[in-house]
Amino acid sequence: MITTLRTKITVKEICAGFVYNEMQGKGLFGLSGRLTIQPEYQRCYIYADNGGMKEIAVIDSILKGYPLGLIYFNKVSEEILEVLDGQQRITSVGRFVTDKFAIRGGDGNPQYFSSMAEDKKTKIFDTKLLIYECEGSESEIKEWFKTINIAGIPLNNQELLNAVYSGPFVTLGKEEFSNSQNANIQKWSAYVKGSANRQDFLERALDWVSKGNIGEYMSKHRFDENINELNRYFNSVIDWVSTVFTDVVSEMRGLEWGRLYEEYHKQSYNPAKVSSEVQRLYGDPYVNNRRGIFEFILGGCADPKLLDVRVFDEATKKTVYKTQTNTAEKKGVSNCPLCVLGPDANKTKIWKLSEMDADHVAAWSKGGATDIKNCQLLCKTHNRAKGNK
Ligand SMILES: [Zn+2]
Repeated sequence: MITTLRTKITVKEICAGFVYNEMQGKGLFGLSGRLTIQPEYQRCYIYADNGGMKEIAVIDSILKGYPLGLIYFNKVSEEILEVLDGQQRITSVGRFVTDKFAIRGGDGNPQYFSSMAEDKKTKIFDTKLLIYECEGSESEIKEWFKTINIAGIPLNNQELLNAVYSGPFVTLGKEEFSNSQNANIQKWSAYVKGSANRQDFLERALDWVSKGNIGEYMSKHRFDENINELNRYFNSVIDWVSTVFTDVVSEMRGLEWGRLYEEYHKQSYNPAKVSSEVQRLYGDPYVNNRRGIFEFILGGCADPKLLDVRVFDEATKKTVYKTQTNTAEKKGVSNCPLCVLGPDANKTKIWKLSEMDADHVAAWSKGGATDIKNCQLLCKTHNRAKGNK
């Protein structure tokens, strides 16, 4: 890859012909049309978020003469350049000089570029940017792109993958899954965590259809002209979850629905029964992990480990230990009731409290409560053996 450092390009030149597209939330062109600021694979402009703190900071830096940091262009051809890194900063400057936002002036009032004193305008326009022009094969550039850390907000994993596998498939995928105007987002948000802008829905859809091999899947479908399979699979998962679980609760968001769909979608469930089970478990004070309720029910309520059922507290353990040990010592047998039944030397062994664990006499899954009457201490070995049954 060839890189050439450019030090003479000014803000004025970069911003010549700057176009900001409100619909797409993107800065599009600069350098009198030669520069593509936010190519397809770049994320939307985010420096205007949070009241525009970041874009205002960019303009403040220029006015104070601070460097804006390195900017990288990809030289596509003699006439065409693409911003590889720096699109947020360039879009900030472009938006400012086209009066899309104001900074705070000396008197505390909002100040737009067009109303600034001439010397300040000149200062901004004449600021020179530090730009590396890179020229290389697509794979070289994208490999490099993967390794750089963008100043400010690093690209997340899906944004990187979108860059590496840019093409018609990513474009269509983003149209469907990364568009915050999509009316389905609200429904999806019940089950999928994150935001459309940061590619979280696209990532989840790809994760599900590819069974976790997102990069491989994107590479294989990179030049596809449709996303039918991706769409179909994602919607099948969402439809399945929303049919089986008619209650929508916050703990559902972000669960591994793709895996659960694969494991359980061929079984039949009675949604009314499922719903009453969900409500019963939500009301059960012994359930520590509510996120485990859904898989617990899908699996036929067989694996209470998923619910992280509340354990006995230390005070209860100590009390039970004392009673149990006193009785055992009187009888001359082990204080672990299961060791007593065993064949070896442990028959009479008195374990220390630290060597024992508390156990539900009547199993929690069969309705046994987590209170002192249902508590016994077992040596660790026996407790583990019982837990695994
Ligand atoms: Zn034992």
